Amino acid sequence: MHEHKFTDSEWPFSCPINMATITTKQIVQGGFPILAILHEEEGAWQVLCETTEDPKDGLVYCLGCLFEKFPIIGEFAHIPEGYEAVRDSVDDEWRIVKTEYEDDD
Ligand SMILES: [Zn+2]
Repeated sequence: MHEHKFTDSEWPFSCPINMATITTKQIVQGGFPILAILHEEEGAWQVLCETTEDPKDGLVYCLGCLFEKFPIIGEFAHIPEGYEAVRDSVDDEWRIVKTEYEDDD
């Protein structure tokens, strides 16, 4: 376990602070803006830049560390499982929409 700067009472999510979260290198290392915050149906989170779908660009990151770097994700801690917060660009408003899952059948 590692330390975070915020206190337990500041943690806005109902999941564990060290929840493994999918994000992208572009966000964490490249400074790209976050354009999508997904709450998966199984309770996990994804924080995405929407510029890549290449698995090589994916990172598994601690949700607490992401919240520390990008406090904005805490504003969406309440969205239900199966929904996501999306915006088309940093200049656009966030929208909460149901996540469309592709049918694998
Ligand atoms: Zn962490």
